[in-house]
This record gives sequence, structure tokens and C-alpha cells, in this order.
Amino acid sequence: MRSHLLNETTADDYRRTVTEGVERVAAKLAATHRPHTGISVDELAPAIDGIDLDRPLGDASAALDELEDVYLRDAVYFHHPRYLGHLNCPVVIPAVVGEAVLSAVNSSLDTWDQSIGGTLIERRLIDWTARRIGLGEGADGIFTSGGSQSNFHALLLARDEACRTVMKRALDEGTELTKAELLPKLRIFTSEASHFSVQKSAAMLGLGYEAVIAVPVDRHRRMDTSVLALELENCAAEGLFPMAVVATAGTTDFGSIDPLPEIARLTAEHSAWMHVDAAYGCGLLVSPTRRHLLDGIEHADSVTVDYHKSFFQPVSSSAMLVRDRDTLKHATYHADYLNPRRMAEERIPNQVDKSIQTTRRFDALKLWMTLRIMGADAVGSLFDEVVALAAAGWEILDADPRFEVVVRPQLSTLVFRYLPTAGGEDGGPRPDLLDEAQLHARKALFASGEAVVAGTKVDGKQYLKFTLLNPQTTTADITAVLDLIAAHAEQFLGESLAVHH
Ligand SMILES: *Cc1c(COP(=O)(O)O)cnc(C)c1O
Repeated sequence: MRSHLLNETTADDYRRTVTEGVERVAAKLAATHRPHTGISVDELAPAIDGIDLDRPLGDASAALDELEDVYLRDAVYFHHPRYLGHLNCPVVIPAVVGEAVLSAVNSSLDTWDQSIGGTLIERRLIDWTARRIGLGEGADGIFTSGGSQSNFHALLLARDEACRTVMKRALDEGTELTKAELLPKLRIFTSEASHFSVQKSAAMLGLGYEAVIAVPVDRHRRMDTSVLALELENCAAEGLFPMAVVATAGTTDFGSIDPLPEIARLTAEHSAWMHVDAAYGCGLLVSPTRRHLLDGIEHADSVTVDYHKSFFQPVSSSAMLVRDRDTLKHATYHADYLNPRRMAEERIPNQVDKSIQTTRRFDALKLWMTLRIMGADAVGSLFDEVVALAAAGWEILDADPRFEVVVRPQLSTLVFRYLPTAGGEDGGPRPDLLDEAQLHARKALFASGEAVVAGTKVDGKQYLKFTLLNPQTTTADITAVLDLIAAHAEQFLGESLAVHH
């Protein structure tokens, strides 16, 4: 019987099979002329449900043929210039080589004895990133599965640091405060435009959703620090404790960057942990022209970076960095069978001591190959291109009477809505109908497969969103997609108004 195990006897089979998979994808990329085919769940589900998983095809060519029908043909292709949906980037080839190598060698980064060079490479990249941020000599961190996990991990450290310091302070003042008494009194401050993983983290950390105070944003969708200052005062006045302020460097919807220096000043004043969620904005760390937009990030106690957003890396590739490596101990547990305390004393680097995962992919290799082949400036220049494109897109939208655009972007998103020009004396269509028109346009566009855009709500009203992460997208693409949106929305409104008359 043929062996499917990858080992010294199957190297040829490995080479042939993987090459065949690569060939299929390469052919697909060359022949893909739209981001999506527009297939619906009801159309696709029967094909996948109909496959008998207990009857293997035995052979890679047959399985790849089948995969063409159930996945490759209808996948959403993020590399297409008219994919303007979520924060998914086209990926760079050096990282894809890294991905192929890391899954074949299959190192696991939990312990030194399962990874060797992998551990050292990951640590170099953490140090490199921490230096780019400016966290200082005591910094450390760990690769994670994504920004949500990084935010959760950082807030776990912040919670346990708050417990440690507040309980110690109470003891020094002669009162005993238990962790159970303290947890319900901890508060996290973040802007109302921040990522929902902050709320989810608070719930998972046993603090509850209500521990998160949403600070309003200014008209640029950046945290209003005068309100933050008041909220921090109120927190103390009510006998509660400010556990952390989560600043966002690149909000998911608007790409807005909170005023980091002012937030740093306020967190220091109130002895709170400063976390910067730079899941989206981290690309600025390597930008040859825009690094200054992150000024103040060097004051953070912890930082989230998603290389799989603005470093053009395949999913997953993310990290959480801390200013003080000692704080990572809050996620350390020594198990006799894996990472006994003795090993830490012998200075054997077991990354599991710093992680909330155990078995963990060598995702760092993708970034390593990227830096070794193309270099940081080349990555930063790609990000610069999409930021410049967004600025040009804003000009187009601002000049187009069919659309209203929310903020001039700091990064690469555009939030806008279609507004009919012929409003008439009755002030145009009803607000709910206008909301529906945006949703309809987005759906119709997706179903046509011609472009993919995102949607969001601003002050209760439905908007559409372009997330620009592809340097190949042009202003001509933006103009063409806007025309498609206007046509779909116009048609919807025309038909709705006809029904109502
Ligand atoms: C995308 C995003 C996250 C979550 O990151 P994942 O990698 O999707 O888990 C967190 N914060 C911000 C600001 C984001 O844009």
C-alpha cells in the first residue's frame, strides 16, 4: 500500500503532489478575473454535503479536481483589485514559501525541544518588532493566532497586574482586598470605534461586558481624550479601578488612530495599563514615509500587531508585545511533562511559558522570509501605496454628488453612503429606505461577483465601506465600483418608490 506519510522515502511524492497543488492555484490565479463568482450558500452547500468522506479518492489529482468544484472556483480572492471588503490583504510570495516550509517541517513552537531554530527566529522577530515600536530593552512578546487573541492576552496581563498592584497597595494601607472583591471593580476604557474583541476579552476574563467603558470619538473617529480624562476621574471617585486603556492605532472601520501621546499621559497619571491595538495600523511601523502617525506607541505597556493585515502575510500571523517581559509570567504554568521549572532555571527557552496556546504554528517563519527576501521597506512601501490610494479615493467620493463620505482617512478605509441626487421637495427617500438601498447595493454587488465591499453603521445609519489593502487597486477601480453601487442603489430606490405610489 502507498504511504502518504511525509518522510525520507516519500520525498519525490511530496515534491510531485505539492507541486500539483501549487500548479492548480497558479492556474486559478492567472484565470481569475473577478473577486468572487457570486455563488450562494444554497447553491454550494449540496455539492459539499454530497461528498462521501468515508470513500477517499486515493489520489491527489482527483481530490484537486473535486476541490476545484467545491472551493477553488468560488473562493473569494483577496488578491483581486476589486476585493474591497474586509481587512484581508493580498499576500507576498516570500511569505507563502515560508508557509509551505513551516507546515512540511511542522515545528511546534511551544518548547525548544520541538522547534530549536524556530524558537530563536520567533524571538528575533519579536525583538525586531519591539524595537520598531520603541518599547525599550525590557520588552518581549509572543506570536499569536490573531489580533483578537493578542488583545485578550494583553488584557489578561493587564488584569493580573492591576490585581497585583491594587491588592498590594490595599495591604500596605492595612486592609485586605481579595481578588474576588476586586475583579468586579476593574474598568477598561476604549473608544466606541474600537474592536469588539475588547468587549469579548472582558467577558472571557471574568469582568463582564459592563467592565468596558466606551469613550466617545471626535469627528475624525479618534478617542475623545477630554472625555477619557473625565471617565478616569469618575472611576476613581466611584471607588473603582482603571485596569487598562485600550487605544486603537487604526480602527477597523475608519482607520483612525487615537491620540496616543495624550492617552499615554492619562494612563500614567492614573496608573492604568496602556494597550495599543495596532492590528491594522502596524504596517506604519515599516512605512518609509508615515511612521510618525504612530508617535506615542512607544509608551504602551502592550501592543497588538497583525502582520496578516498590513504586512501582507497569510493568515495567521500576529503578535502581542509587552514593555516589561516580567509581566508575561501571568500566563506561565510549569507542567512536569512539558516545561518544568528546572528548564527555566537552566535558561532553556520554552515559548509556551509566554503563550496562552500550547502546540503552536511557526507562523513567524513567513515574516522572516518576507524580511529576508524583500525587506521591511518594501513591505512598508506597499502599505504606503494603499494609504495614498485611500486619500485619492476620498477626493473622488468627496467630489461625487451621489455619495456622502464620513472621514478623510488616516489609513486605507473609506466609509460612505449613496445619496440620491434628485431628492425632490419632500427631502428624498425615507431614512429606512435609504439604509436598505445601501444594503441592497452591497448584496447585489456580491451576488454579481464584480466587486466585494463591506458595510457598517455610523450613528445608526447604514454605510458602505472600502477597505483598501491591495496596491494593485487603482482609482479607476474605485470609480467603476462606485458606479456599480450607484446603479444598484438607484434601481432599488426606483423600484421601492414605484411600489409605494
Ligand atoms: C482585525 C482587528 C482585530 C482582530 O484581529 P484578528 O486577527 O481578526 O483576530 C483587532 N483589532 C482591530 C483594530 C482589528 O482591525
